[in-house]
Amino acid sequence: MTTRFRLHRKGDAVYLTSPLLDEAGAKHFFATRKGGVSKGVFGGWNFASGVGKTTDTEENVLENYRRAAELFGLSLSDICRSYQAHTAKCITVDDTHRGVGTTKPKFDFGVDGLVSKTKDLLLSVRTADCVPILLFDPQKQVCAAIHAGWRGTVGNIVAAGVQDMTSQGCEPGEILAAIGPCIGACCYQVGGEVYQAFSRLGDFSSCFTPDAEAGKYLLDLTSANRLLLLRTGLTEDHIDEARVCTQCHGEYFFSHRRMGAERGTMSAFITV
Ligand SMILES: [Zn+2]
Repeated sequence: MTTRFRLHRKGDAVYLTSPLLDEAGAKHFFATRKGGVSKGVFGGWNFASGVGKTTDTEENVLENYRRAAELFGLSLSDICRSYQAHTAKCITVDDTHRGVGTTKPKFDFGVDGLVSKTKDLLLSVRTADCVPILLFDPQKQVCAAIHAGWRGTVGNIVAAGVQDMTSQGCEPGEILAAIGPCIGACCYQVGGEVYQAFSRLGDFSSCFTPDAEAGKYLLDLTSANRLLLLRTGLTEDHIDEARVCTQCHGEYFFSHRRMGAERGTMSAFITV
């Protein structure tokens, strides 16, 4: 597997970090499926109980989270989990949200992006082909974790995240972004309706390649989110990309396209 991000191994845990975020001192990583205690289709570092016929135990999922938190020197009750529903909604979270989705109940509404300036509050968004995006402002010490599938991307959830950070005093020109492992343009076939949905946002034709199959396209979600981040005022050199396909690399990543509903889910984490 090749990626522009750094691959780390600690014990049996394998995770990626963005060189750009590392150099700015951002405490973050993108977990791979290597590590953790889950078995079978959830093997091994799985962060959701699953949506298929087989489910992982809550005990395993929480242990996997505990191990992730430990790598930050934090505990399960410091984590705040999004409640993903392919929305373009972001909210700002604080001390009152410690443990949401781990030691406290989940959010009771769909929220696919979290913004925080609360020290040691560990944000988690989960993906298995969709795009995990982490944002960090080193000046203001504000961070965000965003889940963007094609619906979230076309809903411009990254702009909602940047907007929330701006309301916390950030300047878009200071914000750094890391676009994590997701399904690549090598594999992500979509229909004409997705192309049409993006065309309403402007010219996204550079993100689509006509596929050999008539009426189908290959969509580059990383490039689409990069374009949207640039539009919000981030600069070219403030956007880092993992550029590794989750469908192509089953050893490292869960993939909805490859595995269907019977699969685990990765998580990306960031804190200030
Ligand atoms: Zn691929």
